[in-house]
Amino acid sequence: MPAETFEFQVEARQLLQLMIHSIYSNKDVFLRELVSNASDALDKLRLAALRDDSLDADVSDLHIELEADPDARTLTVRDNGIGMSYDEVGQLIGTIANSGTAEFLRELRKAQDDAGAEGLIGQFGVGFYSGFMVADEVTLLTRRAGEAKGTRWTSRGEGTYTLEEADDAPQGTSVTLHLKPADPENQLHDYTSEWKIREVVKRYSDFITWPVRLVGRPDGEDGEPAGPETLNSMKALWARSRDEVSEDEYHELYKHISHDWREPLETVPLQAEGTFEYQALLFVPSHAPQDLFTQDFKRGLQLYVKRVFIMDDCEALLPPYLRFVKGVVDAQDLSLNVSREILQQDRHIRMMQRRLTKKVLSSVKSMMAGDTERYTTFWREFGAVLKEGLITDSDNRDALLAVSSFATTHGEDGTTTLAQYVERMRDGQEEIYYITGESRQSIDNSPHMEAFRDRGIEVLLLTDPVDEVWVDAVGEFEGKRLQSIAKGEIDLGAQGDEKSESEREQQAEEFAELLGWVKEQLAEDVKEVRLSTRLTVSPACVVADAHDMTPALENMYRAMGQEVPRTKRILELNPGHGLVKGLNQAYKEREDRSGLTETAELLHTLAVLAEGGRPADPAGFVKAVADRLERTL
Ligand code: ADP
Repeated sequence: MPAETFEFQVEARQLLQLMIHSIYSNKDVFLRELVSNASDALDKLRLAALRDDSLDADVSDLHIELEADPDARTLTVRDNGIGMSYDEVGQLIGTIANSGTAEFLRELRKAQDDAGAEGLIGQFGVGFYSGFMVADEVTLLTRRAGEAKGTRWTSRGEGTYTLEEADDAPQGTSVTLHLKPADPENQLHDYTSEWKIREVVKRYSDFITWPVRLVGRPDGEDGEPAGPETLNSMKALWARSRDEVSEDEYHELYKHISHDWREPLETVPLQAEGTFEYQALLFVPSHAPQDLFTQDFKRGLQLYVKRVFIMDDCEALLPPYLRFVKGVVDAQDLSLNVSREILQQDRHIRMMQRRLTKKVLSSVKSMMAGDTERYTTFWREFGAVLKEGLITDSDNRDALLAVSSFATTHGEDGTTTLAQYVERMRDGQEEIYYITGESRQSIDNSPHMEAFRDRGIEVLLLTDPVDEVWVDAVGEFEGKRLQSIAKGEIDLGAQGDEKSESEREQQAEEFAELLGWVKEQLAEDVKEVRLSTRLTVSPACVVADAHDMTPALENMYRAMGQEVPRTKRILELNPGHGLVKGLNQAYKEREDRSGLTETAELLHTLAVLAEGGRPADPAGFVKAVADRLERTL
């Protein structure tokens, strides 16, 4: 087959341009990326060989080799791992599939200016392409384990690459960088220099569990070629005690396994001894990934068995509501052949999951107690996910509630825990009040808040979609019921309402007929019309029955593709408002009430709008209001 030339995918081209023109000073990260790819390839081959006896592959001495040639100015990173087939090279190397890289490009577009871009490149591994920061041509020679023919990939990074079959390729992959001319001013960047290579590997790749060897070194003193030197310690960080490992080392491991370029927010080591022994090293990232709430979000930890890498994204080790946690678990007594199905049912794995969950929650708790700024970041990024646990994990519900915080009307821009809320509750208040909605703004100005604001009663402001659900699941806290202020009848009577019983009765009588009539007029939209105790300023609001779904919850189910019948709601009128009083008056005085029907409809639409809802017939509403405004001129 003759050599073929292909074009890079658009995004890949953009990335390459950045790499080639990068003036970023910390180019060292390219070596970390190539070594990391090689290490993954070795992991994959070992596992494939364990699972398939018939695989024709040599796994006797899996390792990574670095070979520098100062005269030719090349550096080669070689592994004898899984390798790639011809088609795989095209797919994997010619396109950008890694979601981390895609996110990097998005960040880059945001940062725009060159300074921002440089900073990002430095912190972020962009994989294989980062080789183009230091090389003006890259050759990759690879052969997939078990296959006879190899593939050679070559590119100068300028829009195209060539692929050809190679008969002479050894198993695995070697990447040869044709380095840019040396900068005589800056010896620090000569990647053919032995000490430089040694330093970079030590700094970024020390924990890699395969030997990274430096080969082709100049002859030893006695004229004999010196044997290869292993540069990394290969010590599994999770097996070492915390005080033996530096933060930097932890962070490098985090970057290696998470493909995140930022530092983690929290590092959580755990060593479990006893009959079922394992070590874990977990990380809480500092940012929520964009796809955290999508169906195909890859969750889970890396699973090792006695230092042998078994799988990525092992879901069974943590519950879905901790899906943002990254890390490694290394178990002593599992079969190397475990499958995902077996893991889901394994009793030890379930125990592990329980222990790891508690460990993560307790580390959040100590963040909360010790470092409030970090806790605030944590909650901002992951609070909405963690709250899913309030619904699904009743065993840990108390622990979860203890580390949950919510926006509240108390204090400026305040947040509170439920415990703090309860502590502040006034005499006579029996319930924890909350309101749910799609945004802070819509609920801040919601008519449901009026009486509460007036009387200074604290209300929790819940705006995550999951809030609708957990409040029902949890029901109460320390014996105090969680009560939506937009549901059921609210009786603030004992809490400073001045109206007497007889005054209320009188009012009820006065409006009784109007209420009945409005209900008839709006029969399609509301199931009941009553006088409100929660309004002070607005003429009307709509509320739900205690066990009805709120509109936000209905929308959420619809967004998930589920059919939900429309729940009719209750219209509450403010008997103290001029418009409602006037309507009552007109209703009593007029024979022909046809003109009043529209007023009743407008009143209902205003109530829907005020809580951030949408009128059923926006154009009709606009026309009616415009006509009326015209008449006032
Ligand atoms: P990433 O490693 O972040 O996925 P890269 O651009 O570095 O992105 O690599 C893309 C893909 O190419 C890898 O996911 C892997 O499947 C494949 N690959 C890269 N290097 C090697 C290698 N040395 N051996 C086998 N496959 C490799």
